[in-house]
Amino acid sequence: GLTGNRRWERAWRKPDPKPSYDIIIIGGGGHGLATAYYLAAVHGQSNVAVLERGYFGGGNVGRNTTIVRANYGLPGNSEFYSHSLKLWEGLEQELNFNVMHSQRGVINLFHSDGQRDAAARRGNAMINQGDDAILLDRGDCRQMLPYLDFDQTRFPIYGGLYHPRGGTARHDAVAWGFARGADQRGVDLIDNCEVTGIDIQNGHVTGVQTTRGAIRAKKIGIVVAGNSSRVAAMAGMRLPIESHVLQAFVTEGLKPVIDHVVTYGMGHFYISQSDKGGLVFGGDLDFYPSYASRGNLPMVEHVMEAGMTLMPMLGKARLLRSWGGIMDMSPDGSPIIDRTGIRGLYLNCGWCYGGFKAVPGSGNCFAHLMATDRPHDAAARYKLSRFETGFGLMDEEGTGAQHN
Ligand code: FAD
Repeated sequence: GLTGNRRWERAWRKPDPKPSYDIIIIGGGGHGLATAYYLAAVHGQSNVAVLERGYFGGGNVGRNTTIVRANYGLPGNSEFYSHSLKLWEGLEQELNFNVMHSQRGVINLFHSDGQRDAAARRGNAMINQGDDAILLDRGDCRQMLPYLDFDQTRFPIYGGLYHPRGGTARHDAVAWGFARGADQRGVDLIDNCEVTGIDIQNGHVTGVQTTRGAIRAKKIGIVVAGNSSRVAAMAGMRLPIESHVLQAFVTEGLKPVIDHVVTYGMGHFYISQSDKGGLVFGGDLDFYPSYASRGNLPMVEHVMEAGMTLMPMLGKARLLRSWGGIMDMSPDGSPIIDRTGIRGLYLNCGWCYGGFKAVPGSGNCFAHLMATDRPHDAAARYKLSRFETGFGLMDEEGTGAQHN
């Protein structure tokens, strides 16, 4: 910083768009950049452009609370998130980039006998999938999380489901790492380039209209998270997706106090501590559909109340910042990675509150689909048609929700 940024090298090129590409990825968030990376690194496809309307990493990938885990219970989600976590575990070597992946463990608290049963069932599903899960009782929680209120809190703590391989990562470093890796393999990363139309001829995509001109392409992937409905509408599609704001908060930097990620689903609250010392926390959605990445005060109050009942010491910390991102909420809380009825047009969306942990898995599986026209085994159930037929729904919103 003292050099005034002089002689700093660009991490990736800043090319102008070419007239045509084999593949265009719309959206330069975590999922779009990871897709481009794996298209080039695994499938040898480098005549690829990622078109981003703002700057790379300025969307949800740089706004989330960075929790990475593989603790889903339903077939479909279970294998996908397991695949994604394994990719996380080798990501820094793969990208030669420090994404600060920290497997500090995730603990989902439970507060009744029924919730304990559900946690045990989910833990068994995680173990069956080859991942790790340990059921903690109240005494274990007291030992591991001594700062929680065990005596007067509104919902007494019965125990927790502990996922030791879960943790956090530095969110924007993930975007930067994938961006640099894709660029090094010849992918054009084009920012300030909003897609305004999708060209279709005889049921086949032929290209896009953008604020930087028309660009032709044989295949197009829509990977725009909270803007999925808007962009899909450009191809005449109506998606089963609602967009909502999710807010998050960070306090001033404190000495290390919270060793794990702790979630409190009963009160809509979860928390971890960043490597810089800030307590990073959040809660539930602002419950009205919106494309504004800014939330409202009632949810701020709700999250603070939940935090204070679980962890009264939180009241001593000063809040530094709050912000919001736009969630692409699917009806069953599970995502879509699929072809569409338009040839050459592919869709990746519906990540709800939980798409950060999915970044490597989603990019890997979406690249596989776009390159081979066959779904990747780990994402084979993420079909768009399940919302039309009702067959294959994976209703696991609760796991995605308050557990982030
Ligand atoms: P984005 O980064 O939003 O990328 C989409 C990009 O598309 C944007 O950059 C946007 O500018 C671009 N775009 C949109 N329209 C166009 C257009 N017309 N033309 C060109 N580009 C366009 N997930 C977890 O797993 N763990 C968490 O702890 C977690 N916490 C969260 C907390 C908050 C507050 C928020 C907001 C989200 C959280 N998430 C979490 C969810 C996660 O961040 C998202 O699911 C994920 O980042 C979405 O995928 P993305 O990174 O590709 O999205």
